[in-house]
Parts: sequence; structure tokens; C-alpha cells
Amino acid sequence: MDSNPPLRNIVIVGGGTAGWMTAAAFAKALGRAYSIRLIESDEIGIIGVGEASIPNLTEFNRALGIDEDEFLRATRGSFKLGIEFVNWGALGDRYIHGFGKVGQMADTVPFHHFWLRMAAQGKAAPLGEYSINTVAPRQAKFMRARHDMAGSPLAEIAHAYHFDAGLYARFLRGFAEQRGVQRLEGKVTRVEQCDGDGGIAAIVMESGERVAGDFFIDCSGMRALLIEQTLHAGYEDWSHWLPCDRAIAVPCESVSPLLPMTRSTAHAAGWQWRIPLQHRIGNGHVYSSRFMDKEEAEAILLRNLDGAATAAPRHLAFRTGRAKTFWVRNCVAVGLASGFLEPLESTSIHLIHMAVARILDYFPRAGFDAADIAEYNAITRVEYERIRDFLILHYKLTQRDDSEFWNYCRNMPVPEGLQRKLDLFASNGRVYRDGVELFTEVSWLQVMLGQRLQPRGYHPFADLLPEAEVQAYLDNVQRVVGKCAQAMPTHAEFIAKHCAAR
Ligand code: FAD
Repeated sequence: MDSNPPLRNIVIVGGGTAGWMTAAAFAKALGRAYSIRLIESDEIGIIGVGEASIPNLTEFNRALGIDEDEFLRATRGSFKLGIEFVNWGALGDRYIHGFGKVGQMADTVPFHHFWLRMAAQGKAAPLGEYSINTVAPRQAKFMRARHDMAGSPLAEIAHAYHFDAGLYARFLRGFAEQRGVQRLEGKVTRVEQCDGDGGIAAIVMESGERVAGDFFIDCSGMRALLIEQTLHAGYEDWSHWLPCDRAIAVPCESVSPLLPMTRSTAHAAGWQWRIPLQHRIGNGHVYSSRFMDKEEAEAILLRNLDGAATAAPRHLAFRTGRAKTFWVRNCVAVGLASGFLEPLESTSIHLIHMAVARILDYFPRAGFDAADIAEYNAITRVEYERIRDFLILHYKLTQRDDSEFWNYCRNMPVPEGLQRKLDLFASNGRVYRDGVELFTEVSWLQVMLGQRLQPRGYHPFADLLPEAEVQAYLDNVQRVVGKCAQAMPTHAEFIAKHCAAR
């Protein structure tokens, strides 16, 4: 057994979404046996974007025991069933990447092989007609899954949220402070390292206060005060694959209907998000500064708002990639300090959730174990790479040739693992996915087909059933999904009834 005294003193640097998610989860899991202190600076503030999530955030909140309606009231949040992509595969194209299932899984091969068989003969509706998560948002309909209705599409609704990131951090702060987390206000001006291994010994604040600790979590955002500025973990730059490096964010007034989906509209050198909350719509233009200047990017954003802007546009810069090492000695980076894969598909907050869960899994007992740290870093690296490949897919799979940016994306070489996935799907519509991967087969399928990668064939077992039977099967799924969507309340009605902010 380790003869070192047990590690008890945790210091979190930064109080954005990453800092407060970490503090809240630690407080819940570790109780008061540990000292947890969080340092943040009101003057520096938080990045304040990050308003769309994927369904896994429901699990994070549930693990903390947070009531969903209370969370949505506190963050003025709304529900999200998927993302609509406009103008990505080609100008004028539109498809939804919905969470949840498409069709029903047959006994033999996945649904989409039957769909491919019929679509090849012009006898199938667009794929999105066979999923409640893509049919309902087009009609602005929403309800939570009815788990008591097994077999119905209503049992399979998978939802995530749109929410105000600043309000979520405040909400989690309340949760964490109630459970003993101590918040220290002020700027970090110096970091002291240990004489022996060069790990972090203490944080020194502008006031002169010295905050010593055993275990440090770097949630300082893109500044990466500990992991990069102090421990020099290094950064792997992925901007040759994910070329957007700027964003402009601006909120605007709400318009009706309240859609339960994010919209991502491709422009000449990037794309624009549209995230409807209860009280406003969050908008942003993510673009590549290599291909467009900020004046043009801002003009495009402001031209494409649904309502009047309610604040001045905010310009942000970032570099896509990740820290070469996430956990170095007694310090782990979480959130933007650990890397950033751009906002497409809303994966950053999910990566925070995964990092926090993994730190708890590999939580040090007393000293720091090299094998634990190596494993943490290896899994996190793969996790980042799999998400990266899914994002690159959106840029690579385009037929757009109307700008230098899209010509670059269409022609760029992609990572080998992604190329294999593309080749595999292009042959017989098969989707390969390993255990670490976040996005499901159905996610890959919707984006690949949505962006015009048409497989040459499909699984031969889809031919084993008589055509009339397959047709009846598809028609039935489409009819039932349509009827279920019709019966659902509107998103606005659902929120008004359950979780409207007061
Ligand atoms: P920050 O919010 O920047 O917090 C850093 C903290 O460190 C702050 O509290 C700051 O005060 C503190 N700090 C820094 N330096 C010091 C210092 N010297 N002394 C004291 N304190 C200090 N993610 C999603 O999941 N979905 C999205 O839709 C999404 N959209 C995004 C859009 C854009 C344009 C960008 C850039 C990011 C987006 N993200 C999104 C990512 C998301 O915003 C972040 O993952 C999330 O907000 C976490 O940020 P953070 O807490 O790591 O950093």
C-alpha cells in the first residue's frame, strides 16, 4: 500500500462551465471528506458561449440529482432533438442529425440497409421520415420519452438541451457551494511548482493569498494556466482538418415557433449556429480567418438573424486541437484548457462530463500512479480523436465548390481512420464504430447520407425478404412515426406547462 498520506486537498482553477461542473460532481461524489476550493476571477469572466448540448448531459444532471425542470427554469433552457444542417452537402440541401434511432432495428441487419434497398428503386421516403427525432422538430413538436410505451417511437425520443451557459455555471455554483465547495475570488498571478517533480505546489493570487493543494484541476479555459503555461504539456494543432478558428456570437429576439433543434447553416467560409432558448435565440458565425475577414463574417451573421440583435456581436478566437497530455503529474486539464474541437455538434460540454467522470474513476489515492495517468491520457486521446473525425466528416463530405474554403475542405486529406470509415460506407453502407466512440452508427449514417455519400450497395441480407414485405415495413414505420409526431404537444406548449422560467 502507498505510504503517502491520503490526498485530500483539491484546487480547481477556473469557474466556467468546466470549473463548476467539476466542482459540483466532485462535491457530490466525494462529500465533505475532501477540501475542494475553486478560484475564479469575475474580472476575467467566462467564455459564456456553449449553449447547446447532446443527450449525455441529461445523465450528468441526473447523477447530481438535479431536477430537469428546475435546471431548465434556472438556465432558461429549451429542448433539443437534433441539429438541422442547411447548405452543407450542397447549396439548398437540408437534413437533420437527430438523436436516437432511425427506424426499428430488424433481426437481421440494421434498418438502413432495407431503406437503401428501397431508396435505390425510388421507393423510400427521405431517411429523416423514419425517426421521431427528425420528424418532430420540423413540426416544432416536443415531449419527453414515454418509457412506459415500449415499441412506440414515443418511447425512443432522445433529447438534449439548449441553455444559457452563464446561468448553468451559476446554478452549479449554488449546488457546489451548498455541498461545501469554497470559492475564492481573484486573479491567479503566479503558480508555484514543487521542488521534486515539478508538479504544482500552490497558486498565488493577486491579493498575495497562497493556495496550496495536492491535486489541481485546470479549468482556466483557453489560457490553460497550469497545463500549458506552467507544465508545458504541448498542443496538437488540428486546424489543417478543422480550419475554422474564429467565432462571432450575438443573441437576438425570439421568433415563433420555438424549434426543439439547433440549426447549423453553412456559409462561404464556415457556418452559423442558431440556438433557440426560452427568452432569446443564440447565434454565432464560426469561420476560418484564412478564408474570410471579420467584417465580412460579421455582416453575414447579422444578415441572417431571425429577430433583432439584442447585444453587440462578440468576437472570439480559438485553435482547434487538444493538449498533447491531459494529466501531467498532479494536474488534470478539463474544458477548454484541455483542447477545443469547435462548436459543430456541441461536444465540448460532453468532453467536460467525460473528463470529470474519468478523473473520479482514476482518482488518486495518495501519490500519483504513472499507470493510472497513462491510461487516463490514452483513453482521453482516443475520445478526442473519434469526435474530431466525426466533425471533419461534415467538412470533407461536401459537393460545394462555390468558395475557396469549400474547395479546400473537399480536397483535404483526412485522418486514416476516417478515410476507412468513408470507404467502408461507400461500398456497402456499413458503419464501423468502436467502444470509445461517442457518436453512434445512426449519427454517422445521417450525416453521411445527409451529405450525399451514397453507398454503392447494401447488406445482402436486406434482399432476403420479399420486396412487398420490406415496402410494407418501411411504410408502417413512416406512418407510425408521423402519427406519433402529430400527437405530440408543441415545444412551446411543453415548456409552458413544465419548465418555463419565471
Ligand atoms: P471558460 O468559460 O473560459 O472559464 C475559464 C475560467 O477560468 C473563468 O472562470 C475565468 O475567470 C478563469 N480564469 C482564467 N484565467 C484566470 C486567472 N488568471 N485567474 C483567475 N481565474 C482565471 N460547447 C458545447 O458543448 N456546446 C456548444 O454549443 C458550444 N459552443 C461554443 C461556441 C464557441 C464559439 C466556443 C469558443 C466554444 C463553444 N463551446 C461549446 C465550448 C464551451 O463554451 C466550453 O467548453 C465551456 O464553456 C467550458 O469553458 P471553460 O469552463 O473551460 O472555460
